[in-house]
Amino acid sequence: MSINMEEIYNLQFHKVIDSILNTVKEIAVIIDIDSFEIIYQNSKAYEVMGNRIGQTCHDLLCLNDVPCIECPVGLMGDTTVVREKYVELFDTNIRLTYNKIDWYDSKKALLATIKGVNKANEDISTAAIQRVTAKLEETYKEKDPLTGLPNYSKFYSDAETVIRNNPDKDYAIVVFDIERFKSINDIYGMLEGDEAIKHIAQCLEKCFEGKKNYSRMHSDIFAYYIDYKNKGQIIKGIEKLRKLINANSFDFDINTTYGIYLATERNVPINLMCDRASLACKTIKGNIMKFCAFYDEQYREDMLKINSIEKDMYKALENHEFKMYLQPKYTLSDGLLCGAEVLCRWFHPQKGMIPPNDFIPLFERNGFILRLDEYMWEEACKTIRGWLDEGRKPVPLSVNISRYHIKHNDLELVLLKLLKKYDLSPEYLTLEITESLFLDKPEELNRVLVKLQNHGFKLEVDDFGAGFSSLNLIRNITVDTIKMDKEFLDNEIASEKGKIVVNHTIDMAKDLNLLVVAEGVETEEQVEFLKQSNCDIAQGFFYAKPMPLEAFNETCF
Ligand code: C2E
Ligand code: CA
Ligand code: CA
Repeated sequence: MSINMEEIYNLQFHKVIDSILNTVKEIAVIIDIDSFEIIYQNSKAYEVMGNRIGQTCHDLLCLNDVPCIECPVGLMGDTTVVREKYVELFDTNIRLTYNKIDWYDSKKALLATIKGVNKANEDISTAAIQRVTAKLEETYKEKDPLTGLPNYSKFYSDAETVIRNNPDKDYAIVVFDIERFKSINDIYGMLEGDEAIKHIAQCLEKCFEGKKNYSRMHSDIFAYYIDYKNKGQIIKGIEKLRKLINANSFDFDINTTYGIYLATERNVPINLMCDRASLACKTIKGNIMKFCAFYDEQYREDMLKINSIEKDMYKALENHEFKMYLQPKYTLSDGLLCGAEVLCRWFHPQKGMIPPNDFIPLFERNGFILRLDEYMWEEACKTIRGWLDEGRKPVPLSVNISRYHIKHNDLELVLLKLLKKYDLSPEYLTLEITESLFLDKPEELNRVLVKLQNHGFKLEVDDFGAGFSSLNLIRNITVDTIKMDKEFLDNEIASEKGKIVVNHTIDMAKDLNLLVVAEGVETEEQVEFLKQSNCDIAQGFFYAKPMPLEAFNETCF
């Protein structure tokens, strides 16, 4: 026998079981098949034998330390098993009726009902248990147990029917949830969380005057469908509902966010419409300025792209699809090669070359950057080792360090390990750390940087000038070089005043004993200006684009 538990949530589960099994007169217990432990007992069981939760059935009923040889618990099939035996606890012969059920959490369990053999009329027969099952299924086929609102399957079928049968009207699906609902549960308790959910259910009923065009889909996710004449009308409706929801006496705010899908293509399955509304809702998470968003096809495409990249990235690393490119750096005063930046390119077997801006930001969010960067650093170390072995004088390679590495404080360890593996001295590796990182937790970062510097690594602030507090920043941090951001340079050099800003920035950096690199140098004029401003080093398309190692070896050395 199987009770369809999918629609019944853990918290609600006991309430449901209570409401059914407490109405019967017999003792009913539920036994976990794996552990033989009593995991549930009805009120009659409490009345007759006290709290037995956690006790094994062999201990309780048979006074055995280990499962009995003929115990049906471990051996049950799908049919009902009935046993009669004398049980000391009850001091009488009892009849045990066992039925296999699906407990929640995918646990297999037995429902055992106990009655005294001599007392007639108290048997929970198989038929009675089937009634229990049927009632459970029926109660929750259409309704959400906590709120009594239509559940998702009822909502799907209602919305589908209404949208299909009214081709003259335009419909929208709105899906919404509570911001940080998990924190409400964690801080105020699940029962309070339940109350918040019930409050929203009441607001929906009030807002739509019981039209039942809404649903609690699951946990804190609700949905409704509505016909509309223009988008403004949908937003007004949302504002009205939000107002109702916000008027409450909870100790916490119930902040709801809404995603809207306009059901213009009526043959899109309703669950997909809801998924899309839900996707729209996700786009505004964490944005305090927005409480609703319309579904946008572009967003879905972006998500698909992200999914496909995430699917491929592990294999790509294994298959060496990530290639190191090098972009040379030149000393401005004499035009000599003085280093190169390590930049990554992904050669995807189907999609061809993917530029880093299409995957680095994603890897920085999903953490894969840790593995990719370590791979690139190793490529850099291998390259330098190769140059040394060939008898060339290596130029330092600068590698990019991402935010993640500073948080995971094994940066120092990983780098030192690599130096050891390739028998290199640290002066060959420059670490580029993006400026925005310094704005986060400067003290924490500085501690890491001082250690790295003490080991002999050269440190460079990447994208300098892209942020707002750049000038303040260089006063407080321990680095060797600043690398002026391309945009900063382009924007400032465009005006006379801007030129003065760049000049003074360079002067100040030099007063602080910092080297200055200009990145993204594209024109002769820029080179001339930088030379006059005493900038030390330049990197950019004017000199060379990033290139594979072979090309670098041929053209740059
Ligand atoms: P970034 O560190 O600021 O790297 C400089 C970017 O500017 C590179 O883009 C380079 O190709 C480009 N560039 C250089 N000179 C010029 C120029 O004269 N004009 C123009 N328009 N662009 C120029 P790329 O290689 O596409 O890399 C983009 C960003 O991706 C990098 O910016 C860096 O933040 C990140 N990145 C690339 N490879 C890696 C890597 O292996 N690890 C990490 N963490 N980030 C990487
Ligand atoms: Ca860089
Ligand atoms: Ca940069």
